Amino acid sequence: GLPPTAPAHDDSLQRRHEVLAEVQEHYYGVPPRIERGWRELLIDVEGRVYLDMVNNVASVGHAHPHVVAAGSRQMHLLNTNSRFHYRAIADYADRIAATLPDGFDTVFFVNSGSEATDLAIRLAMAATGRPDIVAMREAYHGWTYASDAVSTSIADNPFALETRPEWVHTVDAANSYRGRHRGADAVRYAPEAVAVIDGLAASGRRPAGMIAETYFGNAGGVALPDGYLREVYAAVRRHGGLAIADEVQVGYGRLGEWFWGFQQQDAVPDIVAVAKSIGGGHPLGAVITRREIGDRYRTQGYFFSSTGGSPVSSAIGMAVLDVIEQEGLQENARVVGGHLQRRLEELGERHDLVGAVHGSGLYLGLEFVRDRETLEPATTETAAICNRLLERGVIMQPTGDFQNVLKIKPPLVITRASVDVFVDALDRVLSTGF
Ligand code: PMP
Repeated sequence: GLPPTAPAHDDSLQRRHEVLAEVQEHYYGVPPRIERGWRELLIDVEGRVYLDMVNNVASVGHAHPHVVAAGSRQMHLLNTNSRFHYRAIADYADRIAATLPDGFDTVFFVNSGSEATDLAIRLAMAATGRPDIVAMREAYHGWTYASDAVSTSIADNPFALETRPEWVHTVDAANSYRGRHRGADAVRYAPEAVAVIDGLAASGRRPAGMIAETYFGNAGGVALPDGYLREVYAAVRRHGGLAIADEVQVGYGRLGEWFWGFQQQDAVPDIVAVAKSIGGGHPLGAVITRREIGDRYRTQGYFFSSTGGSPVSSAIGMAVLDVIEQEGLQENARVVGGHLQRRLEELGERHDLVGAVHGSGLYLGLEFVRDRETLEPATTETAAICNRLLERGVIMQPTGDFQNVLKIKPPLVITRASVDVFVDALDRVLSTGF
């Protein structure tokens, strides 16, 4: 295929560089200029069609008519701040709480994942009256002050080790593929994390809570070792702290087998933070917890997010849930994701660069290594593969501290035919050089 180039008359990329802060990156050196989206497809201004294999934000697919109609109808009627009294916010809170186990009866609406994890951390601090938080290394939880403080992934936050505030305490990244403990030895991560938590308590700093992704999304969808969260949550609670689940990427049906990541671990957190997919692209985040925890936020003053749970946000959030339920998207994630996973594993039998296929449902990670023994990360190769895939009409990006894992998280409406297009393109790229 032709490499995408910006038309000579198009100065939009240059304008972007001039007007936005330099750190606001974009995908690709020469990115296609995207004009429309439909289901799992994106279309650029030149009329080229791309298969979008990374867009977990467009969870129910681009431009879903039911979501568009719900948002549009509500915008015609009313949109206002969440202090006004309208019906939709309570209906939506009920529906989101109903996806969680009993006891999750209190909802806060915000506008993003960073706000959701930040609020979750502050809730744990407020509820316990303590400042210390335990977080897993190599994680990303957001860009706001508190969410950034607990984000220690080298790729996302290279200065994390120097700038981390003293209330943040970390435990090892529980990565059973390339961490310190591999394979069956990964059971050692939990007792080690428990020792850190016990040590904190013994030194007089009983933690307010522990935050972690419930399925290691930032590392490319690596499942935590069996029993990990149960053991770590129990240790935090033994010292009166709270368990915070970051479900921003992995929750809401994407894992196929489970609606929430913590269900895979057979563990129940105290506070759940979610965003991205719940708004289908509209800025929406939520923190769901128990009444006695939520009410403790009072000690901080009042809680108000102007547009968190606004009439339009609530209408869109409910429409997204309608689609997930009516179109059976969790089941689609399980079935189509299972097919995709099997095809990727088969690819691994023919291409030495494939180190592992991680993940579940439509949250998969294909990890590239130069050597299956040393696991030397194939970082430059992964970047090149993503560029070659773009030429073949597939949008794909790397993740992980070594940027050597393809982060496969397409809209949940993706078809079996589309995932076959992706695997065939990848097979061709791996076979013909990159
Ligand atoms: N938590 C996790 C696990 C995330 O992946 C992200 C976003 N990549 C966030 C929190 C922050 O979400 P947002 O970008 O909506 O602020």
